[in-house]
Amino acid sequence: MQLQSFGAAGTVTGSMHLLTLDGRHLLIDCGLFQGNDELEARNREPLPFDVAGLDAVILTHAHLDHVGRLPLLVKLGYRGPIHCTEPTAALAETVLLDSARLQVDGYRHDLRRARRQGIPDEQVPPPLYGEEDVHRALALLRPGLRFGETTPVAGVRVTPQRAGHILGSAYLLIESSDARLIMSGDLGNRESGLQLDFTPPPHADAVVLESTYANRTHRAWNATLAEFRDALREAAAQGGKILIPSFAIERTQTILHTIKGLMDAGEVPRIPVFLDSPMAARATHEYFEFGDELIPEVRDALRAGEDPFRPSTLHVVPTSAESQRINRYDGPAIILAGNGMMTGGRIQHHLKHHLWKPSTSLISVSYQSPSSLGGRIVTGADHVRVMGEDIAVRAHIHTIGGFSAHADQDDLLAFLSTAGTPHVWLVHGEPDVMDSFLPVLAARGLKGDIVPDRQPVDLTGPGYPDGRPPGFVPTPPRGAHAESTE
Ligand SMILES: [Zn+2]
Repeated sequence: MQLQSFGAAGTVTGSMHLLTLDGRHLLIDCGLFQGNDELEARNREPLPFDVAGLDAVILTHAHLDHVGRLPLLVKLGYRGPIHCTEPTAALAETVLLDSARLQVDGYRHDLRRARRQGIPDEQVPPPLYGEEDVHRALALLRPGLRFGETTPVAGVRVTPQRAGHILGSAYLLIESSDARLIMSGDLGNRESGLQLDFTPPPHADAVVLESTYANRTHRAWNATLAEFRDALREAAAQGGKILIPSFAIERTQTILHTIKGLMDAGEVPRIPVFLDSPMAARATHEYFEFGDELIPEVRDALRAGEDPFRPSTLHVVPTSAESQRINRYDGPAIILAGNGMMTGGRIQHHLKHHLWKPSTSLISVSYQSPSSLGGRIVTGADHVRVMGEDIAVRAHIHTIGGFSAHADQDDLLAFLSTAGTPHVWLVHGEPDVMDSFLPVLAARGLKGDIVPDRQPVDLTGPGYPDGRPPGFVPTPPRGAHAESTE
């Protein structure tokens, strides 16, 4: 059983793992690199394997760093099936169409700038893919995977189980003629959000494990809720705008549900809530469609015909013209807009209009890469550049870390405890985080190995003497954290 990783090896984005077993070639996830220019340049590298020789692609979930290179794969000639759960197929459509739109818009912007500088058009890198490429990829989706049901994929037995990370997310039990393997995908935080906990895994010979937060313990959910409530109360008392930059999938729905709960309980005042993200609004629709997948409280509300994601004061903002109009609205209001790290999207013009006012509050509920605009704001910059303008930071800044959708160290160890697995292969983590997790695994009698970038490894072999592949450097690349990593 051989694994070759072309992404999320030594970093947290670009998940793409080629698995060879019983003479079959399965690609697990096909994600985009995100975070900084160096990482994003890797999206343009040719794929070093025979795309037409793949037997099947399987997706663990619909985050862009797990599905974002699918249109490229299809551009390179892949015509086989792409297996996933039904909610993942629905969300992948939203995610990939948004990605194509961002790339085409970005290309047009770069082209205009290049022309003003006298640079020939040919020197501007074209978009990775457009909407048509996305539709060709979507046509290959086979949303037939069901939690707990074994499905033959290219003759290999594959059983998806609930991963509890975002809607539709799965980890995979993959059985060859001589070994059982678990591919974890991204695992959920058992405390937070709208997802049921991950299903305890069955016994396997090896686990390929995500390790995003293998070095950290999240704050308890009740403490996070109290922190969020207090931040909202304090912000509402300031009388200005409350900006909440948020990821479109899972985080926005969790925040809307939380605000609704707090308002219904009378714990925070009923001020207007603007959902200023068309992608988040589309994703919320899928949470409705697949409500039976969610925690009982939310599922039962949906079955009773209620809307658990709609505070009574919610306004969904469809167009950018209407988004601009929010800035003329007087009085306190909550504005939820993307993107989570404030590096683009509609949050930017809200920052430009409100960040300099002492009456504004900004509540960060997402991971902020230190090099991102959001990172600079939450770490105390007094001026930042937003949309080409120098803006003073006078707003009250609140940072709330407990909404993470990723497993922390306790969750990962709980997951491993039922897999009864002696051998753990680490992916989807920063080098220093994975390195510090090796002794934690060893203390529990588990053999840990860090999966090398692009080099093949035998998953049922002995691994590396010290768990580190040759040439491994345990320092994180600068600002390499993903948008979707929280
Ligand atoms: Zn994810």
